[in-house]
Amino acid sequence: MLVLVINSGSSSLKYQVRDVDAGTVLAEGLIERIGMGNGGLGDGEPMGPRDHAEALEQVDAELHRVLGDRAVDAVGHRVVHGGERFAEPVLVDNEIIRAIERLNPLAPLHNPANVLGLRAIAEKWPDMPQAAVFDTAFHRSIPEHAWRYAVPDWLYTRHGIRRYGFHGTSHEYVAHRAAALLDVAPEAFDGVVLHLGNGASATAVAGGRSIDTSMGFTPLEGLVMGTRSGDLDPSILVFLARQGHSPDEIDTLLNRESGLLALAGSNDMRSVVEAAASGDRRAALALDVTAYRLAKYVGAYHVAVGGAKAIVFTAGIGENSHQFRALVAARLGALGIELDAGLNAERSKEPRVVSARGSAIPVLVVPTDEERAIAEATAAVVRNAG
Ligand code: ADP
Repeated sequence: MLVLVINSGSSSLKYQVRDVDAGTVLAEGLIERIGMGNGGLGDGEPMGPRDHAEALEQVDAELHRVLGDRAVDAVGHRVVHGGERFAEPVLVDNEIIRAIERLNPLAPLHNPANVLGLRAIAEKWPDMPQAAVFDTAFHRSIPEHAWRYAVPDWLYTRHGIRRYGFHGTSHEYVAHRAAALLDVAPEAFDGVVLHLGNGASATAVAGGRSIDTSMGFTPLEGLVMGTRSGDLDPSILVFLARQGHSPDEIDTLLNRESGLLALAGSNDMRSVVEAAASGDRRAALALDVTAYRLAKYVGAYHVAVGGAKAIVFTAGIGENSHQFRALVAARLGALGIELDAGLNAERSKEPRVVSARGSAIPVLVVPTDEERAIAEATAAVVRNAG
């Protein structure tokens, strides 16, 4: 089955075509500057597509070129917010699109863009089966004692304020592959999964299900990220508001100007590690803050899952930065965790163990592949429906 995987942003559309049965990628691309004219580029630069429908025409032309007479069988969409309704991938119809649209207030930057992508496909190929795969779905198993915030009930009942969690597709995929690497059934996997990309989150997985995760009502909560602050005293927001900063300013401050960028002057972990190695004290402090905060979550989730059987690193930083993994592991000595320096430093695209033989808990590196997970989920949903 050929699945077109779509990740539709407000001004971009990322796509990949996968042959699910062969496990191969046949085409991929990114269309940017949708609806932005030529986006402030100089005269004579090409215009971006006018809207998502026009972007899709470009994708279609590219697919004809690459696939020849083979046709896409289904489309799978990454949808950021599934609210409380969606606990698994679903086949899309008009009612589902409207339900996703009703969740717009919870993810104002992402869900409207996802809806544009869904509608563009439905208009262009009315008979094409489409599936929505939600970033929040894996976390629907989190128990109420972990998703409740200690605030008056109306915040939840009127506004839906609770922990939702994100990166679920990646956490679930990585937990499954980690279980396979350890030779345990997915339903028997207890561990802590660390998705460390530009956005970063930790998930406590017990019996193969998410029971807690560091991102909350929005992806701002939790770990120190590329440009997001992660956890801080909520009174800081009130203080800033009283100082006259607007909600939009505070939003930008905490989501785009904080994290590694604020501490080290760069949100690129490679540059931060290099700067620290060459003696930059701000960069070294940024690494310490980030690793310390992550190690605290690992300790907390080790307790939450009743004793983790694995600590799993994934995504850009988790997969590639042996230096950052070493900094985190160095803070986990109390759990009996010890890396094997040689294994940790090895570069590989394969799932692997990087801890020492005597480590009380194995430490794994498991590459994530959200597009593959979305393609496989889409194929499963379409096959079940047919
Ligand atoms: P996104 O959340 O945008 O998908 P990624 O998963 O691609 O992000 O992760 C981006 C992060 O991974 C950046 O901080 C980048 O510096 C880091 N990264 C990528 N490759 C390496 C590497 N070889 N060494 C250290 N960090 C890396």
